[in-house]
Amino acid sequence: MNHLPLIALDGPSGVGKSTTAKRVALELGWNYLDTGAMFRATALALHRAGITLEDGSRLQLLLDGLRIEQRGTREFLDGEDVSEAIRRPDITRMVSSVSADARVRQMLLEQQRAIGSRGSWVVDGRDIGTVVFPNACCKIFLTASVDARARRRFLELRNKGNATPLEEVAQDLERRDHQDTTRAIAPLRKAPDATELDSSNMSLEEVVAWIVRNHRAHA
Ligand code: C5P
Repeated sequence: MNHLPLIALDGPSGVGKSTTAKRVALELGWNYLDTGAMFRATALALHRAGITLEDGSRLQLLLDGLRIEQRGTREFLDGEDVSEAIRRPDITRMVSSVSADARVRQMLLEQQRAIGSRGSWVVDGRDIGTVVFPNACCKIFLTASVDARARRRFLELRNKGNATPLEEVAQDLERRDHQDTTRAIAPLRKAPDATELDSSNMSLEEVVAWIVRNHRAHA
């Protein structure tokens, strides 16, 4: 198999994939692609247009015309910077059902493959090593216990002035884990040739250093 210069970083919600992936990309001088942001931007577009997944032809029309772009680490929808809007709680609540839809996944799969096929990339998501880039040169499945993920997310939200209780943060993560692992298309799971890293008791620096070391050892 032809191995792409691409690190696939998959794992459940709140495990710190995007922060980790950005740092790994910076260390290697590679590009970074946040596929979760693409699903979030699609969910935002549906929300704004008042279109549901049941609106067959209207949905397809909207998907055909969508312009989703990542510039640096910012996400743009039809030219507008939506980096903050896509992280809103209402969009976070709807994104897992939007991302379970076959038409949405197919549209983004094509875009992700087109982006990742040129240059060197660190790509984070749920199905990068299994479906989008099965020929990635390095596949990491990053995990952490629900407790560790909920505590991290809780502190992150608190630092942003959001007082969501820890219990609620944990329930939201578990709900998204369930939706992402049980969907019919491209469910979240470890690729057979991915290396699993449990980061429950590791700092961000340790995780980044581990991935860079692992990549260099196999490069
Ligand atoms: O990573 P993030 O939490 O931003 O992803 C938002 C949602 O997008 C996930 O909960 C998941 O449902 C979906 N997703 C996906 N496949 C990817 C990346 C994200 O289904 N490759």
